Amino acid sequence: MKIAVLSRNPRLYSTRRLVEAGQQRGHEMVVIDTLRAYMNIASHKPQIHYRGKPLEGFDAVIPRIGASVTFYGCAVLRQFEMMGVFPLNESVAIARSRDKLRSLQLLSRRGIGLPVTGFAHSPDDIDDLIQMVNGAPLVIKVLEGTQGIGVVLCETATAAESVIEAFMGLKQNIMVQEYIKEAGGADIRCFVVGDKVIAAMKRQAKAGEFRSNLHRGGTASLIKITPEERMTAIRAAKVMGLSVAGVDILRSNHGPLVMEVNSSPGLEGIEVTTGKDVAGLVIQYLEKNSGPHLTRTKGKG
Ligand code: ADP
Repeated sequence: MKIAVLSRNPRLYSTRRLVEAGQQRGHEMVVIDTLRAYMNIASHKPQIHYRGKPLEGFDAVIPRIGASVTFYGCAVLRQFEMMGVFPLNESVAIARSRDKLRSLQLLSRRGIGLPVTGFAHSPDDIDDLIQMVNGAPLVIKVLEGTQGIGVVLCETATAAESVIEAFMGLKQNIMVQEYIKEAGGADIRCFVVGDKVIAAMKRQAKAGEFRSNLHRGGTASLIKITPEERMTAIRAAKVMGLSVAGVDILRSNHGPLVMEVNSSPGLEGIEVTTGKDVAGLVIQYLEKNSGPHLTRTKGKG
């Protein structure tokens, strides 16, 4: 197959590994810098141009679209879909997963366990918002944050009020969430490919920190997940319409709670921690499932 990898940087671990795994399995792998692709959207024959030439003959495309380029990245991916190229994840599903509020609403509608969560922009009754998620301690998150930045643990209602007021002053959309203390500063990343969890790792926050992000000094280790966790991760990816996803789960007293479903999950942490050839399994998924004009949404929506 001829497979495009939409990525801003060919030197990133995930991009390198996907290229390597594809080549090892006999495919032609082409890295395309998402922001340098340009398109004629008014033409009857959809095309993408890159470095002065039209892109042609691709069977599949692997989107590795960073949060900061979601809008343009999804437009390029949609154009591939309109050309009949098979996407590992569809543009509609990626756009959906990048909207945290919409994602949690979709997951909750399908009965997937979530931490009790409130959303607000400028609440005129902060006390009620805090009560809505069962009071302090609670976690406040800035909607646009990544890598744990803008995620604050408030031990008391007074602290929570001040933090909510501060974010309101900054005109930020926020999420107010029950604090899952029993998770003990750990979360579980389940790497879903198709209808399987192909690898899982536990991330543990460093001492004195509740955020387990590796960027915040957290450490990763192997973990055996329960059948319930496995089922939850697979269902969460399915509800979002993602074939490949990193589903982040908190272990609570009342079962697994989904925190986030990531549509471009990194490969480095999970491959190094589990020793699994995750990139190879992603390519295998394409081998089994790709075909021309199979995008369910055909670039619409
Ligand atoms: P980001 O998307 O910026 O990484 P997250 O929402 O994943 O932000 O939060 C960062 C980390 O904080 C999580 O990995 C988890 O360890 C911890 N955390 C987030 N929400 C909660 C919560 N409601 N209860 C307990 N810990 C949480």
